[in-house]
Amino acid sequence: MEYYSKQIGQLISELSGLPGIGAKSAQRLAFHILHMPIEDVEKLSETLVDARKNVRYCKECFTLTDQEVCPICSNEKRNHKKIMVVEDSRDLAAYEKTQKYDGVYHVLHGAISPMQGVGPADIRLKELMQRLQKDDVEEVIIATNSSLEGETTAMYISKLIKPSGIRVTRIASGVPVGGDLEYIDEVTLLRALDGRTEL
Ligand code: ZN
Repeated sequence: MEYYSKQIGQLISELSGLPGIGAKSAQRLAFHILHMPIEDVEKLSETLVDARKNVRYCKECFTLTDQEVCPICSNEKRNHKKIMVVEDSRDLAAYEKTQKYDGVYHVLHGAISPMQGVGPADIRLKELMQRLQKDDVEEVIIATNSSLEGETTAMYISKLIKPSGIRVTRIASGVPVGGDLEYIDEVTLLRALDGRTEL
């Protein structure tokens, strides 16, 4: 980045540290920001700082939210006896977009991956088990991705929950292998949910 002054170089470098932003995109974003009105840049930076400061995990389902308990968990109209387990908050958003799921969620924030050194203790699994002990849950729908990690996680959770007698189901494998749930269209998601099978 020696063609640019130090501050421009630093801006490009910070931006290129974000996921999915390569060197070219980082330069494009940096120059876009440098041409923006100062008020807009201030608003953007305030939004970033506020979001980072105020967003936390819902104490029930562990999705990212700016409240102690997220709007889904605090909604009494939702079926709290049905918990859908997803890998992250983006998967939750994908199911919410369908407006057809009336249960609640549990967000793991990851999946078990022996290859990457991610074990059961590294995701929010203990919290799920604690929830199942205190709440009157009838069904746990495992909606982790259909990747190797997602399947490994599904099997692990199923084995853990089964002895308790709670019904454990897995979304149908209509979801493309390795496909992230957030990129799948609503029809496919609903088909996967409707076609779920007992584990
Ligand atoms: Zn919640």
